[in-house]
Amino acid sequence: MPELPEVETIVAQLKQKIIGNKVIKVEVLDSLVEPKIKDLTPFRFIDVRRRAKYIIMCLDNGKYFLVHLGMTGLFYFVEKAQLEQKKKCYQPHLLATFTFNDGSILTHNSVRKIGSFRLMEEKELNMALSKLGPEPLDSEFTLGKFKEMLTQKSRAKVKVTLMDQSFIAGIGNIYAQEALYHAGINPERKIGSLNSTETKKLYESIILVLKEGIKHKGTSVDEYIHLEGAGENQKYLRVYRKKKCPQGHLLKKEAMGGRGTSYCPVCQK
Ligand SMILES: [Zn+2]
Repeated sequence: MPELPEVETIVAQLKQKIIGNKVIKVEVLDSLVEPKIKDLTPFRFIDVRRRAKYIIMCLDNGKYFLVHLGMTGLFYFVEKAQLEQKKKCYQPHLLATFTFNDGSILTHNSVRKIGSFRLMEEKELNMALSKLGPEPLDSEFTLGKFKEMLTQKSRAKVKVTLMDQSFIAGIGNIYAQEALYHAGINPERKIGSLNSTETKKLYESIILVLKEGIKHKGTSVDEYIHLEGAGENQKYLRVYRKKKCPQGHLLKKEAMGGRGTSYCPVCQK
């Protein structure tokens, strides 16, 4: 599932390709996309932002699209001159098409059709996002803030908590496992058992693995691709879907919070 680095990559690319372009036609081909969207034309996108794993597309009519990619959601942007040539890419599993006045298109696709594409007023948008925890790459997310957050969760297990979107935003199964390996912490540990050095290491590891993910344009292990192709971060993973850790130890794999979790019984205490 796309997590913070994957969504951040897509948002940065959407920003470059669609801001300011006038949408003259919208086709909605699946009920996952709110049907009312097709009645909004013409409009322009004035901004694209990320919050947690959501994409927020801001329109010049004061409305917003709130998009969650679910497991397999993606976007294609195709210039008019390449529409024929790239049909095989953007036509399968099509959910919606946005046509711009220069003839280029933006499509939203999803193989498994889990996710959401909703039209919202600002008030609704703020409500929908109000329960999310802080953004780990924001300057306000300091070590002091992280420590304070952890004291509220002392009896919870560390990995499950990192994946809780109301605790901290944007981290899922890939980056939780990677951060815990980098920090040398067993994913089943209770938060209350972490000492000050471990907490600091975990804080730094979260930021490090997310920044690595963004630098490599996300992790393409399943269907995830960004607007220009596949991410590269899978080449740099330490434990996620691996058999051995970078030190050569055999990893253990267990279900935690319903998700397969790999960890190193030697490196992670
Ligand atoms: Zn190891």
